[in-house]
Amino acid sequence: MDNFIYNGNAARVIFGRGTISRLAEEAERLSADRVLVLSTPEQADQAQGIAEVLGSRFAGLYSKAQMHTPVDATADALREVERLGANAVLSIGGGSTTGLGKAIAFRTDLPQIVVPTTYAGSEATPILGETENGRKVTKSDPRILPEVIVYDVDLTLTLPVAMSVTSGINAVAHAVEALYAREANPIVSLMAEQGIAAIARALPIIARRPDDPDARADALYGAWLCGVCLGSVGMALHHKLCHTLGGMFNLPHAPMHTALLPHAVAYNAPAAPEAMARIAQALSAKDAATGLFDLAQGLGASMALKTMGMPDDGIDPAVEQAMANAYWNPRVLEKDGLHQLLAGAYEGQRPE
Ligand code: NAD
Repeated sequence: MDNFIYNGNAARVIFGRGTISRLAEEAERLSADRVLVLSTPEQADQAQGIAEVLGSRFAGLYSKAQMHTPVDATADALREVERLGANAVLSIGGGSTTGLGKAIAFRTDLPQIVVPTTYAGSEATPILGETENGRKVTKSDPRILPEVIVYDVDLTLTLPVAMSVTSGINAVAHAVEALYAREANPIVSLMAEQGIAAIARALPIIARRPDDPDARADALYGAWLCGVCLGSVGMALHHKLCHTLGGMFNLPHAPMHTALLPHAVAYNAPAAPEAMARIAQALSAKDAATGLFDLAQGLGASMALKTMGMPDDGIDPAVEQAMANAYWNPRVLEKDGLHQLLAGAYEGQRPE
């Protein structure tokens, strides 16, 4: 066995059905008696339900969480934290809402409880991406890592099939890159394999029966494992390209991950054969890149970045920017190869 370093993030995780009934107890463990609940406008009703569970510990609801965590929206939420004298935040929703909770915790060190309702995995990482003046900047800090995660399978039953598929592939992307990360280690690789397998077997069932609780539990469990991967080891080409494209063209997060992942994997395949074999096995497919493409496309996901708002003259500047920001990747970054990768994802072609 090769030498390795394993860094684990502290986490208290409560997983199951009906687990939101424990939220008041969890707030009490954190000595939080003024909890500010956060959500997007679309999930305000669901968040109001949480308020009832918190009882007297509920301080207020702030339901203006937005995509990409703009810093002026965080400033607005911080005024609400102060006005209500909140001593904890509870984020219910996807990565956008979790991002707002993290942005508040980074500035105030308030404890966070997260109730994730997508498969993005942000709840398991000490990472925060914020936008200011049109630029997304990522930081990592122990204050950003949520104290408690309450996974309640019942809250994911409403996630529409199309979003379930792309959010699930977004999670798979974390595990895929963990398997060929520079800091890859046996523990995280086990989680990565299990995470990919759980999501790959759950998504086809969810596509047929979105309210199947067992498949939803499998997918949410997989999402947690994949989130741990993202929070434990460094990511490579795929995540960096998503960051570049997201920043340049404001592409939707999970659909963009879905279209790009098979091509990033195909690019890295020659440099990471062992990881590719493990990904393929977890997918029950012959090949990692085509296995990912077929899984997502077979479930109805759009595989072409051009359908998501990427302009046709966007490939060259995206390659330039990707080449300019040096970062570790198992395969050396080559201009022609990156161009081919992005052109394939732009058109939605099945990788070779
Ligand atoms: P999202 O949080 O933007 O959610 C998309 C929409 O789906 C929202 O309107 C939301 O209210 C709604 N929604 C969520 N769950 C639902 C449910 N169960 N039923 C019905 N509607 C539901 O999307 P996302 O993909 O979860 O998160 C994307 C954001 O998270 C991006 O900004 C990304 O950068 C960030 N992210 C950060 C990390 C990290 O570690 N920092 C990791 C992953 C993603």
